[in-house]
Amino acid sequence: MTNHAIRFHQTGGPEVLQWEAVDVGAPGPGQVRLRHHACGLNYIDTYHRTGLYPVPLPSGIGLEGAGVVEAVGEGVQHLKIGDRVAYAGGPLGGYSEVRLIPADRLVRLPDAISFETGAAMMLQGLTTAYLLRRTYRVQPGDNVLIHAAAGGVGLIACQWAKALGATVIGTTSSEEKAALARAHGADHVILYTKEAVAPKVRELTGGEGVAVAYDGVGKDTFWASLDSLRPLGMMVSFGNASGAVPAFEALELTNRGSLFFTRPKLADYTGKRADLEALATELFDVVLSGKVKIEVKQTYALKHAAQAHRDLEARKTVGSTVLIP
Ligand code: NDP
Repeated sequence: MTNHAIRFHQTGGPEVLQWEAVDVGAPGPGQVRLRHHACGLNYIDTYHRTGLYPVPLPSGIGLEGAGVVEAVGEGVQHLKIGDRVAYAGGPLGGYSEVRLIPADRLVRLPDAISFETGAAMMLQGLTTAYLLRRTYRVQPGDNVLIHAAAGGVGLIACQWAKALGATVIGTTSSEEKAALARAHGADHVILYTKEAVAPKVRELTGGEGVAVAYDGVGKDTFWASLDSLRPLGMMVSFGNASGAVPAFEALELTNRGSLFFTRPKLADYTGKRADLEALATELFDVVLSGKVKIEVKQTYALKHAAQAHRDLEARKTVGSTVLIP
């Protein structure tokens, strides 16, 4: 049976994304065939499309989805046909009606979580889980800085950091986004398109600075993040929404108070099955307990993925976005 997927044959703007007929076939050893009910949209998808993160072409695209297991390959023990599952990571190919995927990347989706929410929360939620619970363990009373606070990772991170007892300072580009971030746990929001971030952070923290800066914006906010940290603070540069961070001198960390710097990625925190399961359990716990609400604020037909990319890159989206096959 013919299914469809979004694929691209050359890097470029959203127009390179094409809706194509694909022949998925039967799952090989260790794989399952998954029928997506919802697919996740993430900023990293734009890095693959533009070539910032190079991939062999032609290629599928997308790293996240939720759906039902349709067929099981040899050796797969923990899943059976009909299981509700979700994932983040693994081979590209998430923008598809049906796909093959390594079974060890899939986790069971709790019955109380819908496919749309599952597809919206896995990549951004697991990312928030490792950022706040592994890279730097947020403590009650910490001041934390979260850039793009009304975005997908941002809204989850604001709620989760607040639930951990932190004082949350967010940044956004507009008043509307600031209001949304405040409604999701941000104690203070700085409009970083209008106001210098670091002096405001000093003012808000009584001169001390933040314990950790979570920076998914990259080039435009890098120095403001470093200048916002307290001595021995942790700079977590985890994304490039405004462009990649250029090379810098290690002494810049020394001069600002022996700062720590890391440039993490989700795959390294979920490469082992046990690590993936532990993080997913923590994520499902905060969502099922109501501490973190997953906000699916935009929904597009999967075949209109190019439009979703345009809106994401034009900063028109808030919270999470799903693509429906
Ligand atoms: P978002 O929903 O946060 O969208 C990106 C946001 O970045 C925009 O809404 C915008 O918010 C802000 N932004 C600032 N400058 C720009 C710019 N020049 N162009 C476009 N947007 C800009 O995306 P995600 O939640 O999917 O991802 C957030 C970040 O986290 C991304 O950088 C992503 O790559 C990274 N990430 C990293 C992972 C990792 O493991 N390393 C895993 C998952 C995500 P505003 O208008 O308020 O400025």
